[in-house]
Amino acid sequence: MKRILLRALATITLCYLAPAMPAQPTAAAFKFPPADLMNIGVYYYPEAWPAAQWPRDMANIKKLGMEFGHLGEFAWAFMEPTEGHFDFAWLDRNVALAAEQGLKVVLCTPTPAPPIWLTEAHPDVLMVDASGRRQVHGTRQHACWSVETYRRYVAKIVGELGRRYGKDARVWGWQLDNELTHYGKEPCFCDACQRKFQAWLKNKYGEIAALNRDWGNAFWSQLYQRFDQIRLPNTREFVAQFNPHHMLDAQRWFDAVTSGRPLGRRRSTISLGRASSSTTPCPHRMSRG
Ligand SMILES: [Zn+2]
Repeated sequence: MKRILLRALATITLCYLAPAMPAQPTAAAFKFPPADLMNIGVYYYPEAWPAAQWPRDMANIKKLGMEFGHLGEFAWAFMEPTEGHFDFAWLDRNVALAAEQGLKVVLCTPTPAPPIWLTEAHPDVLMVDASGRRQVHGTRQHACWSVETYRRYVAKIVGELGRRYGKDARVWGWQLDNELTHYGKEPCFCDACQRKFQAWLKNKYGEIAALNRDWGNAFWSQLYQRFDQIRLPNTREFVAQFNPHHMLDAQRWFDAVTSGRPLGRRRSTISLGRASSSTTPCPHRMSRG
């Protein structure tokens, strides 16, 4: 008891001696004007949860104060379970549930995650890393963005999405692909990419002599005779240090591929744009890479 009394006395004394502190602002004082508030949304993957859970989850998303709900990212295997057979019933249901909650729907093109039936039937769509290993199905962004086969399948699934949801007023916008990167393994070194790099160089320099001059290829007798002799710089095929001009052009080429990739801004926008309003927002989700 004595100890309790002493502690109480000490507390009272400290309170008395402490300088007057400014009153703590209330929670209301921290509120920003609505115009300054950031819009917040959440990615929801209905394909990963039992259908019976969807209404509860969507209601909770709204209850947490979210304004947007992103759907469809990576869900290619559910949208097109087998080649040419499309299933959007599950997505229809979730768009409806989101709309019922007053959420703005952002649909995502599923292009970073090609289904296994596609990569199994067309292994050439799988990217090749710098050591020459072709990647396999099982994660994401494992497809080569240059291969025409892959671009054809992308155009098909994106076209289907555009036709189905392009004029749907509940769909506020589109996310095109996801994270424009091969997660540190870029660029791809497959045959299609090698050929596209050579074509890009030919288009840039016109004559092989111009490339030899600008790359400083007199050094180490690096002179090339034709554009098709040039390979993307990689540690598997090159012995010593890369010519820095060679590396720089390889990076420039890859940037051009990235900005023009079918799952990226340009072609997806065109495909979706046929069905969507030209003012429909089509952002990317960027990340490390
Ligand atoms: Zn490639």
